[in-house]
Amino acid sequence: MKKTLKKKMMIGAIAGSLTVGSFIGITSLQPAEAKSTQSNEKVENVIFMIPDGYSSSYATNYRLYKGEESVMDSHLVGMHRTYSANSEVTDSAAAGTAMATGTKTNNGVISMDPDGNKLESILQAAEKSGKSSGLVATSTITHATPAVFASNVATRANEKDIAPQFLQNDVDVILGGGKKYFSDDLLNQAQQDGYEIVSDAQSLNDVKNADKLIGLFAEDSLAPELDRETTNEPSLKEMTTAAIDVLSKDKDGFFLMVEGSQIDWAGHDNDAAWAMKDAEAFENAVEAALDFAKKDKKTLVVIAGDHDTGGMSVGGYNESGANLEILKNVTATGDFMAAQLNEERSNIQEIVMEYADITLSVEEIDQIKQASDPSFEINSIISKHALVGWTHTGHTGTDIPVYAYGPQAHKFAGLIENTDFPQLMAEAMKIPFN
Ligand SMILES: [Zn+2]
Repeated sequence: MKKTLKKKMMIGAIAGSLTVGSFIGITSLQPAEAKSTQSNEKVENVIFMIPDGYSSSYATNYRLYKGEESVMDSHLVGMHRTYSANSEVTDSAAAGTAMATGTKTNNGVISMDPDGNKLESILQAAEKSGKSSGLVATSTITHATPAVFASNVATRANEKDIAPQFLQNDVDVILGGGKKYFSDDLLNQAQQDGYEIVSDAQSLNDVKNADKLIGLFAEDSLAPELDRETTNEPSLKEMTTAAIDVLSKDKDGFFLMVEGSQIDWAGHDNDAAWAMKDAEAFENAVEAALDFAKKDKKTLVVIAGDHDTGGMSVGGYNESGANLEILKNVTATGDFMAAQLNEERSNIQEIVMEYADITLSVEEIDQIKQASDPSFEINSIISKHALVGWTHTGHTGTDIPVYAYGPQAHKFAGLIENTDFPQLMAEAMKIPFN
């Protein structure tokens, strides 16, 4: 009872501040931030942050979930078009290839053009110009988005072929999941080449003077942020900070790509709480990157999702409004909740109450009971309570917001192509590319 009352008061407060206070807040923030984005000074370092699947609906829903502007919001500069060479709707491999190499390719292809020619990435160009480089992700580090920056393979599933290419390309910092794709031989070789190798949050935290660093924190992908506390894995923010610590020792500068990989996976599952929680983890990492960039003054931070996932909407179900704040009480993914159901599925209400704080109707309990995929059904019902709509379990082709901070951030303004990112970054760093 108390809880409900509290929640209702909170909704009132948010609604009030949105209609009256927020515009004043936004405009008062702008001048100070705008100044730093107008500079034409040379960029030494680029941090490219990719929240996989994060479209404008995610940005709006995340703002409502948070109850205030996100850190990204105040750095919005434009949008980008995401279509691939063979489809209006891209996958992460083709989207990443465009964002890393400046060439549109077919869905599923990692940094090769539609004719099978290898493409150079902005990371490789930065390396050639004497800069250090790093890749950070919450998926396997050999997954499509990080892979496009430092490997060339015909199909994204060949993750075993991608791992050695990272070392051949001299990527200095490699942090994420996917230990199973790095053979013992490969890791021994890496150690001989001067890499420090860590495997959990503690050992990452203890890294002091490494010049090169590999952190593989899970055999497969890392845990969703909602479930991470049950593991020894570092957060995306901790990985980002560790990567910057190592790379910023290079006087010639660095290129770092950081991916919030699982916002996309949450979208595929239509799991609104997972999407919001991983967006929050991503925002924390953005904050760490911006803190560094603000002090350094020669670092450009560019933030853009690669495509939309799930065709998310703000509101839906023939009701007007949004109830994002109820997702703050959700403490597990739909997958995790479904795994807690007993064989007869007689404990549905208990589990959903325990992990989502939602009282189900008789019909909803029955829907989960009958579902061929109870996890997806739980997610659908929670999304409906939160008024987060979904049109799809795949990607959609909508334009995606672009955020940028630091010298030459204005280069990314307007409606750009996903292929413009690496070109503009190379221009900003004044390095040869393509
Ligand atoms: Zn996806």
